[in-house]
Amino acid sequence: EAKRRGRHTFRAFDKTLNDHLGMRNQIESQLRLALDHGELWLAFQPKVSLRERRIVGAEALLRWRSPQFGEVSPTDFIPHAENSGEIVRIGAWVVKEACRQLREWRDQGLELDHIAVNVSFRQLLSGTFSDSVQAALQVHDLPGNALELEMTERILIDEAPDTLDTFTALKRMGVRLTIDDFGEGYSSFNYLRHLPIDSVKISHTFMQGIPVQPADTAICEAIVRIAESLGLTVVAEGVETEEQLAFLERIGTDDAQGFFFSRPIEAARLPVFMQEWNRSGRG
Ligand code: C2E
Ligand code: MG
Ligand code: MG
Ligand code: MG
Repeated sequence: EAKRRGRHTFRAFDKTLNDHLGMRNQIESQLRLALDHGELWLAFQPKVSLRERRIVGAEALLRWRSPQFGEVSPTDFIPHAENSGEIVRIGAWVVKEACRQLREWRDQGLELDHIAVNVSFRQLLSGTFSDSVQAALQVHDLPGNALELEMTERILIDEAPDTLDTFTALKRMGVRLTIDDFGEGYSSFNYLRHLPIDSVKISHTFMQGIPVQPADTAICEAIVRIAESLGLTVVAEGVETEEQLAFLERIGTDDAQGFFFSRPIEAARLPVFMQEWNRSGRG
């Protein structure tokens, strides 16, 4: 029985693998067209200051509406864009589009301190990244601190001298640098000592066990304390419940994001969301 099942499993795996390879080529070639065909757009998720009870910013999250594949999640297509190198062009567009959107909101009188954009390793190493950021800020007449760049720990572990130069250039412009999914990856704290980081974002994976799992609560408290003593802002992502929020406030988390406040929404809905937030007295 086991042998029969084993053989069956192997065949199924083999077929799936081939499907995946075919799929991979298709996704990569479709992705190359996506930008020029206007299939990419940005959703925005509000970020709330827990101290000020105010919406301080929003994170831009990339969306792909593909005529062939439908709505594709960034966790599914970004690895392909990284693999093909297309992420460099797409990533530059994300920064530009996020800056354009923030300019539009500010012109409407919306008070948002900054817009956050996710950046991948490949993009950072492209050599053109900091120039493209500077150009985007300039075109839309925004100061550097209106832009926050989020990157995962992986970027900092595979540290190349080039990345440090890029970080330094970005810092000189006043751009805010954030470690995303903090604690989820290799978690060498070493880079916190010598990289010009402004904030850390506690990985949503620790949120699930809040407030009942001792390991999760201990990790969150430790991250908040490290951030505090290093003078970093600490953000919690993936906040879904009132209990999680109460815990995060109690331990001194600065900012939070999550479905409890809002899912990522279309740009056009953000002003309405902020109006309602202020009216309901949450602000
Ligand atoms: P991330 O930067 O850590 O973004 C947070 C993800 O968690 C988003 O998924 C968001 O929709 C989701 N999320 C937010 N609040 C909650 C919550 O309360 N509960 C749960 N369960 N999930 C929540 P999304 O939009 O699918 O993005 C996934 C990842 O794709 C992002 O993780 C980021 O690493 C990457 N990504 C998104 N946009 C870009 C981009 O423009 N460039 C790059 N390089 N990566 C991007
Ligand atoms: Mg992020
Ligand atoms: Mg995350
Ligand atoms: Mg994250």
